[in-house]
Amino acid sequence: MKRVCKNNVIYNTSAHNQPAIMVEEHEEFRLELEDCYGGRLKSSQDVFTKEMWNTVNPATGPVFIAGACPGAVLCVEIMAINIVDHAVMHIARGPGILGEYVEGAETSILKIRNEQLEFGGGLILPVRPMIGVIGTARAEDPVSTSFPGEHGGNLDCKEITAGSRVYLPVNVSGALLSLGDIHALMGDGEVCGCGAEMSGEVVLRTHLEHSFMPTPAVETMDKIHFLGSAKTLDECEAIVLRKAHAYLVQRLKMSANDAVRFMSLAGDLGVCQVVDPLKTMRFSLPHRICESS
Ligand code: CA
Ligand code: CA
Repeated sequence: MKRVCKNNVIYNTSAHNQPAIMVEEHEEFRLELEDCYGGRLKSSQDVFTKEMWNTVNPATGPVFIAGACPGAVLCVEIMAINIVDHAVMHIARGPGILGEYVEGAETSILKIRNEQLEFGGGLILPVRPMIGVIGTARAEDPVSTSFPGEHGGNLDCKEITAGSRVYLPVNVSGALLSLGDIHALMGDGEVCGCGAEMSGEVVLRTHLEHSFMPTPAVETMDKIHFLGSAKTLDECEAIVLRKAHAYLVQRLKMSANDAVRFMSLAGDLGVCQVVDPLKTMRFSLPHRICESS
């Protein structure tokens, strides 16, 4: 199986990045991912400096998918997320709401044993590994891997986990897929600015989706989640509702009014993250009801 190690990273997604590997549709491959701090916070003594901001969220890749042409939709299946034995959290005083409560910057190393995160003080939290950064290259200007957007990127959606399928746009030849920023655990909102940040390895497989599918979207066992990122949550809401409505009307052939009623009864509006340069929301529809309707 082809494998890309974690020193093949990018900090900007760009049509001009050199591919790290080329894979065929349906071919399984592995990517080793560094944590969002670039592995530089190894102990509680390590401090996150201002200079490090330019090189956060390294994303491994890019991966060139043979046959992926602009205009297509790429489906990325997350076959596995292999985690390591610890995670890192760095908090600091900042402009965010929770930042007001931080009593001095602090780096914490959290042990992971038997799929449980040892929080300290006897608190144990079950891990739920997820991928924070997953995206394709944009056709336009390069964009930092810290940004979420229509190309994917720093979406920080906790539904992007082992077993999920992530739908992304193909904007440039080969799609140029890259991933990073794994979390052992994160709550909706990522309200202190980080999750349980972790390095690890993912096993992926891709194919091109031929039916209508708004992007970015995530399909899990029981739901399909439409994602949108913007400066405000109000703008995010408009984006994700528009995508879900288009899916029901164009793919499932519901009438416009039925789709509106169905979304109000069966759909859930949720927040992915409120701490990145743009915020991200999701609108989630029950997958099986959609497919059988
Ligand atoms: Ca992130
Ligand atoms: Ca992160």
